[in-house]
Amino acid sequence: MCQTEWRPLVDHGARTQNEKLDIKTTTCYMCACRCGIRVHMRDGEVRYIDGNPEHPLNQGVICAKGASGIMKQYSPARLTQPLMRKRDAERGAAQFEPVSWEVALETIEKRLAHLRATDPKKFALFTGRDQMQALTGLFAKQFGTPNYAAHGGFCSANMAAGMIYTIGGSFWEFGGPDLDRAKLFIMIGTAEDHHSNPLKIAISKFKRAGGRFIAINPIRTGYAAIADEWIPIRPGTDGALFMALIHELIKADAYDHEFVKRYTNAGELLDMRAESDTFGLFVKDPALPEGNPLFPQNHLWWDAKAGKAVQHHAPGVEPALDGRYVLDDGTPVAPSFALLRERMAETTPEWAQEITGIAAETIRRLAREMAQTARDHKITLPIEWTDAWGVKHESVTGNPIAFHAMRGLAAHSNGFQSIRALAVLMSLLGTIDRPGGFRHKSPYPRAVPPSAKPPSSPNDVKPNTPLPAGPLGWPAAPGDLFIDEAGEPVRIDKAFSWEYPLAVHGLMHNVITNAWRGDPYPIDTLLIFMANMAWNSSMNTSEVRKMLTDRGPDGEYKIPFLVVCDAFQSEMTAFADLILPDTTYLERHDAMSMLDRPISEFDGPVDSVRVPVLPPTGECRPFQEVLVELASRLKLPAFTTAQGTRKFKDYPDFVVNFTTAPESGVGFLIGWRGKDGDKALVGEPNPRQWEEYAKNNCVFHYTLPEELQYMRGVNGPYLQFAVEKGFRKYAEPIVIQLYSDVMQKFRLAAQGKAAGRQPPEHLRARVERYFDPLPFWYAPLELATTDLERFPLAAVTQRPMAMYHSWDSQNAWLRQIHGENYLYMNPRMAQENGIEDGGWIYVESQWGKVRCMARYSEAVEPGTVWTWNAIGKAAGAWNLGPDANESQRGFLLNHLITEELPAGDGVRRVSNSDPVTGQAAWYDVRVRVYPAEADADHTLPQFTPMQPLPGSTGTVERIQAYFAGSGKFAARLRNVVKRK
Ligand code: SF4
Repeated sequence: MCQTEWRPLVDHGARTQNEKLDIKTTTCYMCACRCGIRVHMRDGEVRYIDGNPEHPLNQGVICAKGASGIMKQYSPARLTQPLMRKRDAERGAAQFEPVSWEVALETIEKRLAHLRATDPKKFALFTGRDQMQALTGLFAKQFGTPNYAAHGGFCSANMAAGMIYTIGGSFWEFGGPDLDRAKLFIMIGTAEDHHSNPLKIAISKFKRAGGRFIAINPIRTGYAAIADEWIPIRPGTDGALFMALIHELIKADAYDHEFVKRYTNAGELLDMRAESDTFGLFVKDPALPEGNPLFPQNHLWWDAKAGKAVQHHAPGVEPALDGRYVLDDGTPVAPSFALLRERMAETTPEWAQEITGIAAETIRRLAREMAQTARDHKITLPIEWTDAWGVKHESVTGNPIAFHAMRGLAAHSNGFQSIRALAVLMSLLGTIDRPGGFRHKSPYPRAVPPSAKPPSSPNDVKPNTPLPAGPLGWPAAPGDLFIDEAGEPVRIDKAFSWEYPLAVHGLMHNVITNAWRGDPYPIDTLLIFMANMAWNSSMNTSEVRKMLTDRGPDGEYKIPFLVVCDAFQSEMTAFADLILPDTTYLERHDAMSMLDRPISEFDGPVDSVRVPVLPPTGECRPFQEVLVELASRLKLPAFTTAQGTRKFKDYPDFVVNFTTAPESGVGFLIGWRGKDGDKALVGEPNPRQWEEYAKNNCVFHYTLPEELQYMRGVNGPYLQFAVEKGFRKYAEPIVIQLYSDVMQKFRLAAQGKAAGRQPPEHLRARVERYFDPLPFWYAPLELATTDLERFPLAAVTQRPMAMYHSWDSQNAWLRQIHGENYLYMNPRMAQENGIEDGGWIYVESQWGKVRCMARYSEAVEPGTVWTWNAIGKAAGAWNLGPDANESQRGFLLNHLITEELPAGDGVRRVSNSDPVTGQAAWYDVRVRVYPAEADADHTLPQFTPMQPLPGSTGTVERIQAYFAGSGKFAARLRNVVKRK
């Protein structure tokens, strides 16, 4: 561990010779960005935290949250000991008594052992914004339960799926904008979200270098505040804007012809026989070698010069992108680009203007600006590289137009197709993994789609047996769905069923509702880690809270046993039967692993770790330790030796010694591998690996040779390298899928054309409509059931710079920035509705209403209202006083959002989610606003105040001591406080 003697710049005279001063480096976890930090210690206590200048991600920059980690560490809401609900207490009343870890672990072990031996799917493990999914996913797989996912389904699964099913990578952890070389930067659907400090650094440099920054968003906050231009857009209409931009680029012939022809599937020929069971799929020539059937290489191009079909990428051939042709056997075919061109012919700027609210002329100007930037600022780097078909290129070229997009696009029921449209737009501009555009980050790009598939049959769930595959994966066809013979879901959240076939991150937001209803079946034990499902992480929050306490006819809770693991008392812990106290990020080991979501840079793979800088508070234990312990007790095969004994001493031991397969050399961390620590990326386990990370700023950065840094989807030597180093399974090139035959395979099944699995009757039309192989725009699903005259306003939330969802409501410093929240609205709209600036109002949707305060803002388009996410709290939650501003003047928009859409048009009740991916459609709700009672002075709804839990740290004194500045003074202060 890095321990450097700390010397104050100025000696204030208050410190003594005996004080022990240290600086320890680790990785921040005040949000999910994972910046390097230095924790400055005195006498074993944290004094302050700053950014680590030697860390590649944040280069010393720290944000308000990061610097406030000390107040999280010493938070009054800390849980400090395992707690069991009192035998005679009602669930939800938050009446607990302390138990030992042995009792807690034995209780879970006994329960889980029984479930594993009888029906493993009755155990469900769902986790929040954790950074250990490689471990939690492994635990679920080894246990044998399909019921596992992390938070992605209610966050940005559409962003991951829409991009990865098109270009093999996505934003943030998977890739991002190359602002060092971009000239034009377009940020859409993003406020202050993801990749926080690195993006701030990059935008700052970009603007200083003269780059032009355009923010497209219904609201101008966060990064958009410093944009050169703000273009307001109506929520849920981004896809229409992208399609109009594509229309303009194609019409002006201003797309990157070479890139599109060679590196996308634009030229690949589609079977156009409407009656055929292969209609709309890529034609395969059986006379040519198919190679890996997952990524067949016998697709065809039309060679216009020779007037015949040839294998794609045949040397010297340029594929036709338009027209209709006939193969020698009489099959009518068309290049997929011809269909894209036809689809986009109708999506004019005038069409998009009606949908988005953006003037057609603005859309035209945007398209012109993109085309001109590509034409006039082309980048050429003198880097030779070789493509996957053996062609040598003298240089790497690029078009310097970069995008960044996130949850504003994703959290709609049309998000998948909208994001597909964005990926197609970026591809037509030729900006994928090229300088100045979008750049992948290792281990991305992945195959399209990635080769990992979920289990596909209920028979894959067997007592005392691991699942044959991880519980999550990337379906490529109906055969990959996780359904039973009748086509019904196997998972509790219904992911990978016909309702949400490509639910690659699961649907955590429906787990409680489905389990409560017993649809598709009841479960026994739900283990929730670090997710506030009784508050800001659930839609329809009030009802979900009732479900957690609802009992069946037998008097038992409908969800019989609820385990919550968290570091803090929250709305969720009140509903636990057993609470496991997690450590903070300063008290544990963590691995930001290449097997999960590392912190890679554009120039190569980077992973990082956390090391404990403090001992655990009270009896807290890291959740990873708990999982390794339980897995060992349950004798899950990956955690057990051939002799039946425990394989790993603890979590650090697991991280060092686990490998993906015997002799694979691929483990959780890529740095200092090999017995002597002299190998990178792959190699035998190194018992001193943690020490090496700790000595080196907790980070390992492997820089790829320049010729492997670009065009990685089709860079032959890079693809080989990626297979050798365990980033990928196969070396087939990753051709960008402008046209998705994966989608067409589902559509053919829905149309009854394809043999094999077909959707149940009530879902046929749904699958047929939304599984369009080309991007299209449709109104968010909820609007079909909304009276738009009555509820005309879109209502959305944003995450503020100073708080990460609900994590920081207990933070004494950050609460001073956000302790209450308003509903922001355009003054014109507010005045039309008789609402005063600062006045109390009701916000009502068809699903519920809340009372809150209004605030005028010119920085929001008139058809939208918005608020900060997760500032509002239930009374007493997070150990705040029952009259704290967070509960009395803060509110939660979630009460207005439904988690399910009612049955209609022959479709049964479904999740309020994207019909392709199951991504939660947070931002589809429509509301109305009106003044509240004249004497209103607090928000609604209110809940019975939570009481402090046993073992609360009660750290007000310690916080005062911190401000007081020295141990002695703090002791005196404590005495004063006691006397009072
Ligand atoms: S951006 Fe996130 S990870 Fe980085 S310092 Fe701020 S809170 Fe910490």
